[in-house]
Amino acid sequence: MTATLSGTELAAGIRAEVAAAAADLTAAGTPPRLAVVVATADESSAWYVRSIARAAQKTGIACSVVDLGETATPQRIRAELTALSADPAVHGIILQTPLPAGAVFEDLAASIDPAKDVDGANPLSLGRLAAGLPAFAPATAEAVLELLDSHGTPLSGAHAVVVGRSTVVGKPAAHLLLQRDATVTVCHSRTKDLAAVTRTADVLVAAVGRPELITAEHVGEDSVVIDVGTNPTPDGGLVGDVDAGSVTGRAAGLTPVPGGVGPVTTALLLQHTVTSARG
Ligand code: NAP
Repeated sequence: MTATLSGTELAAGIRAEVAAAAADLTAAGTPPRLAVVVATADESSAWYVRSIARAAQKTGIACSVVDLGETATPQRIRAELTALSADPAVHGIILQTPLPAGAVFEDLAASIDPAKDVDGANPLSLGRLAAGLPAFAPATAEAVLELLDSHGTPLSGAHAVVVGRSTVVGKPAAHLLLQRDATVTVCHSRTKDLAAVTRTADVLVAAVGRPELITAEHVGEDSVVIDVGTNPTPDGGLVGDVDAGSVTGRAAGLTPVPGGVGPVTTALLLQHTVTSARG
């Protein structure tokens, strides 16, 4: 029996707390504001930005989308991030990907004030996270932990395997799991015999960006599987990095795609924004 670790109710609970905090902040004269800097015409990015803006509006957070266009230079993007960082009316800043050719995400994100870095994109935030110092974690990585906690998954001493080592998901998820005393293995494209490693996981986090790469042969019985992947399908749908049909019945728990990590990620971005606005 595989439990579905839904993110929709969890996200709704977080959003309700955010809405109450946003109302208090607004009443106290500090209306929380989130700014999303965009420099792409990518449709799935536009869809994601619209969903953040909608969720922000529903929780009483103002959201400005700063669209610099897909020909924006790194200098222009950096100048915008610097200006938003200096603007006292802005409490959260997100730099949306993909970026124009030649722009390096980590390099540009270094211009986001760490106090407003609600998606943990500034390399300083990741460094502080790794050092166990207070910092905003990338919201997707934090969503992985929130989902595991909401399911009551024991982490101390558990073997957690993270497939993917990106700066935005895999590495920060591994750090957060380490902080919770899991024994963490990080896999990537050069890992030999991926299935042999992932089968030993009590907790398996798939953050690969390869549709349905993880199948029953990769999953140990009684493991809890978090599917971070969001891969667009030709018919306009979305599939994860986990082949849910094959894994269901074997794993103890699995997050759905859509409706798992995604909504929790968005809710946490808003939670970080009110945290920043509280100062
Ligand atoms: P990424 O930067 O492309 O990183 C992918 C990672 O997967 C890399 O470390 C890569 O290894 C590894 N990899 C690729 N093929 C592999 C294979 N065959 N076996 C083992 N490892 C392999 O992707 P990302 O930004 O971390 O995103 C991962 C997925 O999460 C994507 O589907 C993305 O859309 C999704 N995502 C979802 C959310 C959300 O809110 N739900 C947010 C962010 C991202 P190398 O390092 O060796 O290349």
